[in-house]
Amino acid sequence: MSHAAAFPAPAPTTAVAARATGLSKVYGQGETRVVALDNVSVEFGRARFTAIMGPSGSGKSTLMHCMAGLDSISSGSALIGDTELNGLNDKHLTRLRRDKIGFIFQAFNLLPTLTALENITLITLPMDIAGRKPDRQWLERVIQTVGLSGRLKHRPSQLSGGQQQRVAVARALASQPEIIFADEPTGNLDSRSGAEVLGFLRESVQAMGQTIVMVTHDPVAAAHADRVVFLADGRIVEELYEPTADAVLDRMRLFDAKNRTS
Ligand code: ADP
Repeated sequence: MSHAAAFPAPAPTTAVAARATGLSKVYGQGETRVVALDNVSVEFGRARFTAIMGPSGSGKSTLMHCMAGLDSISSGSALIGDTELNGLNDKHLTRLRRDKIGFIFQAFNLLPTLTALENITLITLPMDIAGRKPDRQWLERVIQTVGLSGRLKHRPSQLSGGQQQRVAVARALASQPEIIFADEPTGNLDSRSGAEVLGFLRESVQAMGQTIVMVTHDPVAAAHADRVVFLADGRIVEELYEPTADAVLDRMRLFDAKNRTS
């Protein structure tokens, strides 16, 4: 007797949170024409933490903006979950960003007059309006994991940089987005606070199954990811899995040397 019937294959799950296929982005025309992304194909696995690295001007921000529906694409396709971004009108794009995407920026972007808790839960207001109740249990878990339970009534000015960024991370997690895009999230932090925030991002991937894509220049930050994707001149030139800071640094040096000789 075959075991196939007794152990049916698991139902197919969408293991990919976002995907670019043959994605190109061209800015300008004629003499000012710049190919910022050149036929990029990449998948961001669900519950995975991916770092995007590459020299300045290599297309990191453009890739993130195109994938997050903040910038239009010139050709190819970009998917968030099952939704193809190309062709969505402004209204649908806004809804997609609100419902499926979380953002964390270098500047913490907290509202100064609101407490930490209000900043975290503010994101749930549009959910309320949309008729969906924010998930209280989930919020409590996020707040506990982020380690801010004793700071919820503080305003941003009463928090350290690291704590402020953790509030921003908790805010991004609060709506359980399909994917979080983080743009140099530790760029404004000292190394200790940076490590704290990165540890928390890691924890949200491991414990909560969050998907994170993070642009960074910092090999130590990248080493918190499961995978590093290296861009150069708008193309993916290398990928590293289970990266260590030393391995990332080695690759960066290698690319620098190649650039100098080419
Ligand atoms: P990175 O984030 O890796 O520094 P970017 O994605 O910002 O790189 O930029 C990739 C290329 O696209 C660069 O050559 C940059 O000058 C160009 N670029 C980015 N944004 C624009 C824009 N709005 N208009 C024209 N060119 C742009």
